[in-house]
Parts: sequence; C-alpha cells; structure tokens
Amino acid sequence: MSDEFAPGTVWLVGAGPGDPELLTRKAERLIGEASVVFHDALVGPGVLDLVPPGVRRVSVGKRSGRHSKDQRTIDELIVEAALAGERVVRLKGGDPAIFGRATEELTACHAAGVPVRICPGVTAASAAAADLGLSLTLRGLARRLTFVTAHTVKGEVVGLDWQALADPEATLAVYMGKAAAPQIAAGLVAAGLPADTPVALIENASLPGRRHLRTTLGLLPLAARSALGDGPAVILIGRALQDLPYPKPSSPALAHRACSRSGF
Ligand code: SAH
Repeated sequence: MSDEFAPGTVWLVGAGPGDPELLTRKAERLIGEASVVFHDALVGPGVLDLVPPGVRRVSVGKRSGRHSKDQRTIDELIVEAALAGERVVRLKGGDPAIFGRATEELTACHAAGVPVRICPGVTAASAAAADLGLSLTLRGLARRLTFVTAHTVKGEVVGLDWQALADPEATLAVYMGKAAAPQIAAGLVAAGLPADTPVALIENASLPGRRHLRTTLGLLPLAARSALGDGPAVILIGRALQDLPYPKPSSPALAHRACSRSGF
C-alpha cells in the first residue's frame, strides 16, 4: 500500500471518459488500493471492473434530471467513510476538477479534517476531439478554449454570457448541453457568431457506443433533436472543427506549412 493512500484519506479520482485505457496509471493504482469506492453513474463499466473483488462499491450516480443522491449526502458519505478509517476513492467521470462538484467534496473533507487529494483524468472534450481526430486549438484561428455547462432551468439556459462566448477565435466545449442546443445556437448566432460555424456533437466519446455528428451552428438544434441517443454528449463549436482547418496554400510560407503537415 502506498504512503500517499493511508487509511482515512479521500482521493477524488478522475475516471476519464469511459474507456478504461484512458485512466491514468495513478488512478488505476488508487482504485486497486481503495477499501471503498463511491462512483458516479457516468463511470464506465470497464473502469468499475478494476475495483478489486470484495471492495465495497457505492453508486452515488447522478445523471441530469435523475439524481440518486444529493451532493450533501455524497459529501457526508465520503467523510464518514474516511473518519471510519477507510481508504476512500471517490471516482468521478472525466476530470474531477471540471464540472465535477469537486469543491463541495474538498470543502467537506477539509471541514472534517480529512486528508483529501485529486488525481486528474481525461476530460470529455479531450476524448471527443480524439475521437474526431482533430485538435481543439488551431494556430492563429482557435487560440482559446472555453469549457461551459449549459444546464437548463425550465427550458432556459441560465448564466451564460452569449456576447462573451460568441468568440470566433475560440473553441467552445459545451458540457451537459444537448437539451439546451436550440438556445445555445440561438444565443451564439444572435451575439454574432456566424451560422455556418462548424459544430460537432459527440456522444459516448471513447466508448464502444460512440457516435458523432458534424453540423453547423445554424443546424445544431435540428441535429441535436434528431441525431443522438441518450448517452452523455459534448458539443464542440468553432473553426477548429472544420474538416480541413488548415488554410489553403496561397503563399510559399503557407504552402510549406501545409505540406509539412501532410507529411511531404
Ligand atoms: N468531469 C467530467 C464532466 C462531468 S459533467 C469531465 O471532465 O468530462 C457530465 C457531462 O460531461 C455530460 O453531460 C457530457 O456533456 C460530458 N461527458 C461525460 N462523459 C462523456 C462522454 N464519454 N462522451 C461525451 N460527453 C461526455
């Protein structure tokens, strides 16, 4: 057993997007050393298979609209387990520090005097870009990367500043955004982002049931309604999503760049 996982410690562990091979080696080791594992609904079955037999697994699964345990209960459960001397892994989809309610769990541990640490994971947007075979940033064209959630309350997306998000030099990665796709498209177009801005929706990134769809901002509402199932999906928006994002060679310098990129 490693020194960094003494009894009474909590590790918030990133489970990655689903494919167990996208776990870090550290995550795999911590899972193997845990005496109890509290996991989200989005943690893939292949990852849960790594929990040693006999180790208690507790699903505290949350999927939008279907909360099985509220956040405060989860905070209490992990703190109680640590105070009882367990080695606690709190396994979270993707990266625990991205839309993962990590702060609540860190705060609860700190308040109870429980040592708590974070093991990062591959976030959904990275897995989605990998599935598409493209980069989230693009030299000179997509210099910023913005992660947003688009949670809706009574059909309205709350708290998003469309003017700030409608940035033609950014790639937007929208988490939890499938239901809000029409509002996202309308908000961004009204704030000046061109309707032909490329968009990709990626469902079940990294998993065997993955699907993706390429479209444009203008057609996003239709695509989101008709094309995907009910798996987790991330929406990527911006010029980095173009099929052939590199500028056509029009000058010797560009010609050189384009050729070296394709391996000539
Ligand atoms: N901490 C997680 C995000 C949790 S929020 C991370 O870093 O990835 C949950 C949202 O993440 C889902 O609604 C979806 O938008 C996205 N997501 C998680 N797993 C995904 C997957 N395999 N494919 C596509 N999107 C995923």
